[in-house]
Amino acid sequence: MTLPRPSFLRSIVLLAAAAAAAMLAFAQQAPPTATRFVVVLDAAHGGADPGGRLTSGQPEKAVTLALSVRLRSLLAARGIAVITTRESDITLDPDTRAAVANRANAQVCLNIHATESGSGVHLFVSSLASAPAARFVPWKTAQAVAITRSVALAGALNAALLHAGMNVTLGRTALITVDSMTCPAVAVELAPQRGPDNAITAQPDDPEYQASVASALAAAILEWRSEAGHMEARMP
Ligand SMILES: [Zn+2]
Repeated sequence: MTLPRPSFLRSIVLLAAAAAAAMLAFAQQAPPTATRFVVVLDAAHGGADPGGRLTSGQPEKAVTLALSVRLRSLLAARGIAVITTRESDITLDPDTRAAVANRANAQVCLNIHATESGSGVHLFVSSLASAPAARFVPWKTAQAVAITRSVALAGALNAALLHAGMNVTLGRTALITVDSMTCPAVAVELAPQRGPDNAITAQPDDPEYQASVASALAAAILEWRSEAGHMEARMP
């Protein structure tokens, strides 16, 4: 479990106080020279917030944590630095999740959900309009500065999942946690796997199904890292 240090929280509080008239807190953007490749995995829900309930009876919070742990293991095995917002069944508020991501200067942030409706994997990018980069951005709409890269990240995840034979649905929506993140961020919602007749062939808590989704997501992140490396290499 990674939590922001009290000094960090105190600085956020001070910033919030400074902006009290506008009722805004601010998120500091990563400097463009940051090169360490870090992935943040945010298993949604947890603790007092179970999320939805799956047909199997499992709460969504257990499925999101299981997928986060699988993906973390796959990425760590490939030498990628991973920071998770939770490793156990704890309650976390959206601001704490976003603070973990923003402090990490991550190149990939995945906010993980699970559902009984739909099929395959649903990928959501924030519905905020794209905004130009700035040194300080309003906390609640910080994601606006990363929208272009978030859409590109969703495209990379989409391609890898399709390559692995998954159904994928892409969308834009307001997401309280993602909207406060300054990293390229995508909400990944695991839905049941369905056959051509729409019958469910694997539930979101099916270990084999989760493993294949995690594997495709890891492949996409590796590809994303190599493309990011090329971009950095081309910079003067
Ligand atoms: Zn959820």
